[in-house]
Amino acid sequence: MPEKIIDCHVHLWKKDFLTGKISHARKEGVPFLDSSIIDGFAYEDFLDIGKKLFPGKGYCGLFFGLPLIEVNLKTMNSYISDVCKKNGSRGLFIPYPDLENIPSSFFENKFIGFKPYPDLVNPKDRPKMNIDVSIFDFIPTKVFEFSQEYGLIILIHLPRIGRLNDKKNIEEIREICRRYPNIKVILAHAGRSYCYSDIIDSITYLKDLENLYVDTAMINSFSVIDVLINELGVEKILYGSDLSVSAIKGKNVDINNKHYFITSTPRAWSLSSPKIDINNMTFFIYETIRAIRVASKINRLSKEHIDKIFYLNTKNLIDDILLNTKV
Ligand SMILES: [Zn+2]
Repeated sequence: MPEKIIDCHVHLWKKDFLTGKISHARKEGVPFLDSSIIDGFAYEDFLDIGKKLFPGKGYCGLFFGLPLIEVNLKTMNSYISDVCKKNGSRGLFIPYPDLENIPSSFFENKFIGFKPYPDLVNPKDRPKMNIDVSIFDFIPTKVFEFSQEYGLIILIHLPRIGRLNDKKNIEEIREICRRYPNIKVILAHAGRSYCYSDIIDSITYLKDLENLYVDTAMINSFSVIDVLINELGVEKILYGSDLSVSAIKGKNVDINNKHYFITSTPRAWSLSSPKIDINNMTFFIYETIRAIRVASKINRLSKEHIDKIFYLNTKNLIDDILLNTKV
């Protein structure tokens, strides 16, 4: 591991930012709503985890809130801004899909881009969530235009159940990258490609896009990282973890082209059984690093390449934005 690491996918929030009641179904189906996680992950917790899991390393983050329907986004975004101002970090702003005006103090508040999220889509569109929610349904035009003007980051969590194998997602990513060439488009979880079959064919249609990047958050499969290295290239891969969920012990596994979570203690959203004692598991975040390590070995990546994935690629994107915005 390099001495300096930038984790480009870190959620920070406090318990009191949650306003809505969380349904039982949501608690059981969304890992971030798990009772052991939902109580918050503040900047101090991030520092703590960074020291414990990466002792002796400079572990920094690009921060954003928890983009769920049950939270107060205004409070969430302003907490991220406060953290960044106090600690010299940078953050991504979570927009509502109907956002019409970018806050005037956007750059002073240390934001360098956006983290939109499909769940935040207008309630009338929610029933079609897994079927046909378009990227344009939850990312407002203003966000694209403003990001194009200043060359900002948009970290996109893909909608639709087919992920990168859905032709409409591919067409929309191509359209965004071409219409807004200055935007640094990052696909969260490499387009939610937790399985080899999620990406091996679809990557062909995306690899020529110059302003497209991927993060490694919660990818625990070395064969997915191998595809990213070989098809996109090391320069396009940004290390991200999805803290705090990745600080749970377990693994995201690919079984017959579908992904499942296994956790060391049973959870409603994992395959683990209360009858099997699994005490030798490690953290999801380490499984991501193991996947990068194995794929790096197979591809004989140099120390410089690994430094790019864990640090330099994200640093270069941030530096470029700071140059464009002069704040
Ligand atoms: Zn995330």
